[in-house]
Amino acid sequence: MTNEELKESLLMAPKNGYTRISAEQRAEMESYCKGYTAFIDACKTEREATAWAVAEAEKQGFKPLVDGMDIKPGDRIYMNNRGKSIILAVVGAESLAKGANICAAHVDSPRMDLKPNPLYEDSEIAYFKTHYYGGIKKYQWPTVALALHGVVCKKDGTTVTITIGEEENDPILVVSDLLIHLSADQMQKTAAQVIAGEQLNVILGTEPLEGEGSDLVKLHIMKLLNEKYGIIESDFLSAELTIVPAGRCREVGLDRSLLGAYGHDDRVCSYAELAALFSLTVPNKTAVCILADKEEIGSVGISGMQSDAFEYFMDILCCAQNVKLRECFANSFCLSADVSNAFDPNFAETCDRRNNSMLNYGVAICKYTGSRGKGGASDASAEAMSHIRTTFDNAGVIWQIATLGKVDQGGGGTVAAYMANRNIVTVDAGVPVLCMHAPMELVSKLDCYETMLACKAIYLA
Ligand code: MN
Ligand code: MN
Repeated sequence: MTNEELKESLLMAPKNGYTRISAEQRAEMESYCKGYTAFIDACKTEREATAWAVAEAEKQGFKPLVDGMDIKPGDRIYMNNRGKSIILAVVGAESLAKGANICAAHVDSPRMDLKPNPLYEDSEIAYFKTHYYGGIKKYQWPTVALALHGVVCKKDGTTVTITIGEEENDPILVVSDLLIHLSADQMQKTAAQVIAGEQLNVILGTEPLEGEGSDLVKLHIMKLLNEKYGIIESDFLSAELTIVPAGRCREVGLDRSLLGAYGHDDRVCSYAELAALFSLTVPNKTAVCILADKEEIGSVGISGMQSDAFEYFMDILCCAQNVKLRECFANSFCLSADVSNAFDPNFAETCDRRNNSMLNYGVAICKYTGSRGKGGASDASAEAMSHIRTTFDNAGVIWQIATLGKVDQGGGGTVAAYMANRNIVTVDAGVPVLCMHAPMELVSKLDCYETMLACKAIYLA
């Protein structure tokens, strides 16, 4: 055997996905990405993603979960968890005692939430005060076009949905930054301090109402909101209003190979899960799709992955088949579908190149996330890694291996640990992202498409 032959049989030789997909798959990839673009344009918050998923699931024949319901193979069921997260299932041919094949992604993204008492006027400019949600580089958010999304629950029991800044003729909102001419002191600060949390105040207007009085700019803004939405200042106390980047997902690069948008993390995997689920008829095992909330702040709360809402959903399905929930969990497999960091040659020193995911090399399997000695990671077993790579290879999925940056450089988590805590074998895998958590994140179309194929392979395993 020559060394060349030995090399071929013994060593790995990862290849760019574009050298591995057929013309037919490329066409499918483009059409899949058009669907994803429409989804991400319509869904900038967990509520919007949940509402979209509910509407689409209804069209696809999914019925709401009902305690005590009968189920049979092929049944399509979903549970809307209070408008902020959703779990869907396609019932399999086998009993749930054999376990379910689960894909779990999250639909919340980093952003700036309005404080409970947000509206104020300073120096005849009206503002909203915000408290950022999830991990952001605060300096990235001033001087970019922003939009207001969310709901206000009024005292009369009605809920108003507000979206400002997305239509062509809508005004946008902006956080100001200091002019460079006066930034001598600011430029000496560390990046973490350049913009402080309490400086993330969103400009709402500058025109005072006519007549006598104080805070007439603020009053003007409240009057405009009242005329359009019927709300008064105290209604902010029972609202979830959030500031997100305005604008649509765009193709990026002269070859249009990338998609640039706010909130790919983790709606890019959420959409992959949904598209794969909708394509199923009667899978072997029950396929379960989770779109969770609150991942960016630790998967906490009633709509987060640590919530008992998941047990509630699965228990009703298990009861319908006289199966113990714990038996089902013990035999289940979960793909924790979340994004990873794509290698960025601009910041090569932050990554271990041999173990980092690359754009266009397919869905990225991450054995462990965490930080400082894998702290907080689920750390999938060798057996689980073997299962997932075999499943992907058998289904022809283009995949690669990923770790989250250099040892001791930082880190992060996903919902994986909370699924594994339930005695469910869990592995992380998802789309590699450039500039994760920035107002504009970049993903490759090829990786988006392969992640959908990966979810499908798991559902059909
Ligand atoms: Mn994520
Ligand atoms: Mn994230």
